[in-house]
Amino acid sequence: MAEKRWIAETLFDPEGFRMTFKVEKVLYELQTEHQHLVLFQNKFFGKVLMLDGCTQVTTKDEFVYHEMMTHVPILAHGNVREVLIIGGGDCGIAEEVLKHKSIKRVTQVEIDASVVEFSKEHFPEFTKPVFKDKRFESVIDDGMKYVAKTDRRFDVIIVDSTDPMGPGKILFSDKFYAACKRCMVKGGVMVTQNGVPIYQPEELTKGISKFLRLWADGCCYVAAIPTYVGGHMAMGWATDNKKLRHLPEKTIAARYAKAGGFSTKYWSPAMHRAAFALPRFIQELVDKAEA
Ligand code: SAM
Repeated sequence: MAEKRWIAETLFDPEGFRMTFKVEKVLYELQTEHQHLVLFQNKFFGKVLMLDGCTQVTTKDEFVYHEMMTHVPILAHGNVREVLIIGGGDCGIAEEVLKHKSIKRVTQVEIDASVVEFSKEHFPEFTKPVFKDKRFESVIDDGMKYVAKTDRRFDVIIVDSTDPMGPGKILFSDKFYAACKRCMVKGGVMVTQNGVPIYQPEELTKGISKFLRLWADGCCYVAAIPTYVGGHMAMGWATDNKKLRHLPEKTIAARYAKAGGFSTKYWSPAMHRAAFALPRFIQELVDKAEA
């Protein structure tokens, strides 16, 4: 019997650390024009998508990241009509955003058509409801080019990107954030995939410094995502409305009830509030940030 293949996450090679998954079956593997893409079945995590050696989404724990990257900015804002998703080709983020019936349109700008296409086959739990929803628009483009030229304006911008390497690198730049600010409605919110602070401390501090050069409030909130190894994952937060991340739980709960109180597995009004209470070592990384 041939030895099973193991696939390693290589994002933390510079830190001398790897996490590996035993592969029950490779479902799809392709070197696209942008990145290496492998989707495989793992006994515990179910389907696992990796791009350029970085874990992107797994069936087992996708709900944590997808719920926290969407319901937090949308319910904190309180009156979202237009949402922009940069990246997000698996459509997990779009699926959560569309649960908010008050939202008029969700524009998803993904650079790699292959990610969207194979997700239609392998992640139907995300893509089916999304592509059926008339409010959803899928754009295949570089997120940087899109935000630099679009005449649309957005209440919430969700940067569901890969890590700052390859095609994702530009999505962590001052130039990109300035273009996001340009196409954001006054008082809007941007949230970003901002890595795992224990392994990527500078990424967090530098990112927040860039936010503070453009918005009145730059910070992060956290969630514990098993396959984004390293404890808390940081989600970047940027807005001119300093009050939004301090809203009381009862306000969030009332907005959630008004939005229909749809089922969630990680996000709750209490978790929403708690996510902004940062462990000391992460608060220190935030405090070091300067405009
Ligand atoms: N949840 C994952 C995480 O936290 O790492 C991200 C998932 S999603 C699959 C990331 C997507 O960003 C990928 O589909 C990738 O193709 C896309 N992407 C990378 N660089 C991009 C760019 N410059 N413009 C638009 N999409 C980009």
